[in-house]
Amino acid sequence: MTDIPEYEPIFGTNGIRGIPNKDLTVEFAQEIGKAIGTYYGKVSVAMGRDTRDTGNMIFNAVTSGMMSSGANVIDLGILPTPAVQYYCKSKEIFGVVITASHNPPQFNGIKCIASDGTELRREDEEKIERIYYEKSFEAVSWEEAGTLKSDPTSVDLYLDGILSHVDVKKIREKQFRVLVDSGNGASYFTTPALLRKLGCKVVSLNAFPDGKFTSRTSEPRPENLKDLLSLMKNGAFSLGVAHDGDADRAVFIDEKGNFIDGDKTLCLVVRSVIKPGSKVVTPISSSDAIDEICHDGKAQLIRTKVGAPLVSRTMIDNMAMIGGEENGGIIFGEHQYCRDGAMTVALILNLMAVGGKKISELISSLPQFFIHKISVERKKDWKSLEPSIISYAESNSKDRSDGLKIYLSDGWVLMRPSGTEPIIRVYGQSRDEKRARELALEYEALILGLQEGPSAE
Ligand code: MG
Repeated sequence: MTDIPEYEPIFGTNGIRGIPNKDLTVEFAQEIGKAIGTYYGKVSVAMGRDTRDTGNMIFNAVTSGMMSSGANVIDLGILPTPAVQYYCKSKEIFGVVITASHNPPQFNGIKCIASDGTELRREDEEKIERIYYEKSFEAVSWEEAGTLKSDPTSVDLYLDGILSHVDVKKIREKQFRVLVDSGNGASYFTTPALLRKLGCKVVSLNAFPDGKFTSRTSEPRPENLKDLLSLMKNGAFSLGVAHDGDADRAVFIDEKGNFIDGDKTLCLVVRSVIKPGSKVVTPISSSDAIDEICHDGKAQLIRTKVGAPLVSRTMIDNMAMIGGEENGGIIFGEHQYCRDGAMTVALILNLMAVGGKKISELISSLPQFFIHKISVERKKDWKSLEPSIISYAESNSKDRSDGLKIYLSDGWVLMRPSGTEPIIRVYGQSRDEKRARELALEYEALILGLQEGPSAE
């Protein structure tokens, strides 16, 4: 038998992430660029980036590596990740996005897109990792070195793609007033442009690129959206929208100023799309509301581990038309198999226009489940903490397919180390909002206590 060496993974659950000039150096970025270029071959590669200050630096390093392997780079500039993915799908070419999604501004990342517009499968990322570790880079002759050009058509291509899936006339008739918080990320010009095409009266917040995210933290959670929430309270808008840094996620605020949990948006879209026999894909972190919706709609629900690329690939493998996560990442297969914040905005407006209902009315018609999420700093290896948590909840049934999910009579708790940040995410879920919070707090306290104590390693 041939010995196949085991390599330390470089790609996480959603691409490579790190802090530039610390653990994501330009030397590394250039070499991973060479490895990506070697794997892709002498073909055209679309590249985009979010608004982070280090975007150009990492973009140039990755690009020079890819071009040295013969790849011809199409620079799409600052663009939401799903717009780059849509370009790749439409042109049937590979892509790379320089983004750290919702991570704090000091981070950046590298994400590879397959020619169907979806993130590369894990086995293909492993092939790139192998090329990187074995340094088996393709170095072409000077005559074959890749070229660099731009393509300004990518924005219209993307927006027209989204518009083709909704009833534009009906939405335009409603003249919705929409307040959008782009959070200084890549959607600062795309989502307002989409809304104008949908006949909305648009007011923008933080709609300028700022790679330090000085206006608000990039993750669209209620505690980071204070300006948007307070402006929505004045009752002048039909809908509030916020994106993360690369705009593959969208969260909403109702017309009264209430934050809508991403889990509820997912349920709303799923309920509107499914027919008997449909398949729906979501990770184990989404609430039990989606089970009820699929049961009522006679659709089959497939649960996966956490990670949007895995949800997308599972959807493709099962020919599922709808899927997504509880964090505002919705995957509408008819459009493309990846999370898409702007597509989600258009789908929600479509539901409001076609149903003739306010967003709060649509949300209140859903099965009531609540998720309370807490991020705990990870100071110890997750594997060293897990046995103590298991013995703490000895009598409860558990799912260990991704992190640790503990079922209680009135809800569940999920704990898992993040694939992109040094944190442990704790989710409490229940039909009762207070109980969901209690559950998350109970297990947060347990993890904090265990991390203070001596290591079991
Ligand atoms: Mg993102």
